[in-house]
Amino acid sequence: MFRKWLKLQTRCPHCGLNYNFAAPDDGPAFFSLCIVAFPLSFFVVWLQVVFDPPYWVHLITSFPLVILGCVLPLSYIKGWLVASQYVNHAQEAGTEKLWAELHARAEGKDD
Ligand SMILES: [Zn+2]
Repeated sequence: MFRKWLKLQTRCPHCGLNYNFAAPDDGPAFFSLCIVAFPLSFFVVWLQVVFDPPYWVHLITSFPLVILGCVLPLSYIKGWLVASQYVNHAQEAGTEKLWAELHARAEGKDD
């Protein structure tokens, strides 16, 4: 469903579903922070408190761990959010009219 790393295709390559509705915005980053970065921070603090290592230990363990831990799950989280948006017909409250207009415009451009 991705054209590039986090860039959605316009339609699903399998069933042709239009991804116009998909707008997880900063959701993937938020969930990545909550699920990965938050627990990892505890690990980093624990590492520091228990072993009191020199700073370069954090440079080769904590730092890449936190970066990779936050970046790698982004596309999976985005896929999950787009799927749940579709399943739940999720929209920002009060924006139904705006969405309909934007979609009509986008559809017109496509064809
Ligand atoms: Zn599909």
